[in-house]
Amino acid sequence: MLNDTGKRIGHAFIVSIAVASAAYLSYTISRKDGITDLKQEAAYRLELSSANLFAPTDKFSYLPEVVASHPTIVDALQHESDPAALRRANLFLEQTNSSAKSAVIYILDKKGRVIAASNWQEPESFVGQDYAYRPYFQDALANRSGRFYGMGTTSRRPGYYLSQPISIAGKVIGAATVKIDMSDIDQGWRKSREQVAVADDNGVIFLSSLPDWKYRPLHTLSEAAEKTLEHTRQYETVLKPPLPMSLIERFPSGEQIVSVSQGDDAANEPPVRYLLKSGTIPGSDWSLHVFVPMAQVNVVATRIALLTAGALSLLALSLLSLNQVLERAREREKSRLALEGAHQALEQKHLELQKLSEELRITSITDPLTGAYNRRFFFESVPKLVSAANRHGFPLSFITIDADHFKRINDMYGHPAGDKVLQMLTTVCKESLREADVFARFGGEEFIMALPNTGAEEARTVADRLRILVMERPVEIKGDLLKITVSCGVSQYRAGEPNADPALKRADDGLYLAKSNGRNQVAVC
Ligand code: GH3
Ligand code: MG
Ligand code: MG
Repeated sequence: MLNDTGKRIGHAFIVSIAVASAAYLSYTISRKDGITDLKQEAAYRLELSSANLFAPTDKFSYLPEVVASHPTIVDALQHESDPAALRRANLFLEQTNSSAKSAVIYILDKKGRVIAASNWQEPESFVGQDYAYRPYFQDALANRSGRFYGMGTTSRRPGYYLSQPISIAGKVIGAATVKIDMSDIDQGWRKSREQVAVADDNGVIFLSSLPDWKYRPLHTLSEAAEKTLEHTRQYETVLKPPLPMSLIERFPSGEQIVSVSQGDDAANEPPVRYLLKSGTIPGSDWSLHVFVPMAQVNVVATRIALLTAGALSLLALSLLSLNQVLERAREREKSRLALEGAHQALEQKHLELQKLSEELRITSITDPLTGAYNRRFFFESVPKLVSAANRHGFPLSFITIDADHFKRINDMYGHPAGDKVLQMLTTVCKESLREADVFARFGGEEFIMALPNTGAEEARTVADRLRILVMERPVEIKGDLLKITVSCGVSQYRAGEPNADPALKRADDGLYLAKSNGRNQVAVC
């Protein structure tokens, strides 16, 4: 029993481990599948966002060159102190900006000072500002077109700056700059499930679908980066602490799993896990980052793992209970067989006992010397014969048989010779019997026969025939042939007698008479 319990606990333990392993495996596989899907989603989103980002700015790429080569602009730069020339330039820029729908167009002289701007009449007019520190100006001064994203130091609005050198005879005299307002470009991203962020070459996010992420460096800024930002005044006062992001896992294909704390009070809300795919944006120092939430993947993987565990547990339980049912059936069959065996053994024992008791019974009613029935059997049978005779009105006769001068045989030839004679007498008597007759050794050298359905006369005939048969069968003893004779008394049961005793007495009387009359004869009484 204890062994069984131990076995069951062992089974349960193995099953639990198997279920847990399968659940873990299915979790891992479905998570891996989920991550593969997320990677595809991220890659697609990255491409889409990149296209999205440049679509509005591309259409302005022609503008700086058009402005830079315009005679009005070149003229204003050549005659910076001529208010009329500057006014013409201002009007031209105002008109061009209005029809191109850019944010601001302005002209810088070779020192980086704005001499004319499309917003020349507005309170936040750029005219007179010094933008010599801006990289796009540096680019133009080096006689190449410049591209720069930055916070407007005057407008405080993020913009994309495109600059073009203005030159005469190969000599740069100034720069034409078009600023495109990009402050709203990320608003369209806010509806999507995943987060999109664009960071500059220093890693500072300047466009983001999550407003809180905006102006946060992706990582802690290096000292050099901090210096650059300070110098270019790119983000001025809006710069925030780095994004509270930590790396969980990095895939060989470049994607990462990161955990980002939410809001300022990070303790209140649990961090969110994302699959992060980053890419560079061609033609710029910017990088684009797509954050796809992992929640869905984890939920699905957990659900699948739970389902697997549930299904397996159910299966294991069914198998265990099936095993129990089978075991019980086996036990039942075993005890049935044991019972059957015991039953058979009992039956066998019973048969043996029956045989033994039959043997005992036969022994108890058989004479050991001759094999004939004994006196006891005879007296057991007689009452049945009497009642049968009475019932059917049939006659019933008795014959007593006694060897003549038997004592002499013993005396002359020895006791074994006498025994041999007794055995011969038995054989002859048995040969004379009919099926219903009862024959027994009555004692010593005396035998008795009960003959149902036989009258006295018929019995006398039987006795006489017997007497003759005995006479005709000499017994060989020590080379001599010994002739034996018998005397017989015959009687018939008389109706009305209570039992066989009177008839037996008469048969005995008959025997006595036969002896008296000379032996070797039959007498009826
Ligand atoms: P009768 O003709 O008057 O019957 O004379 P008898 O000698 O046959 O009768 P008696 O009664 O004088 O003697 C019977 C003898 O039978 C005596 C006894 O020793 C012998 N006897 C009895 N039983 C056995 C036995 O089982 N075997 C042998 N060998 N002898 C037996
Ligand atoms: Mg005798
Ligand atoms: Mg006798």
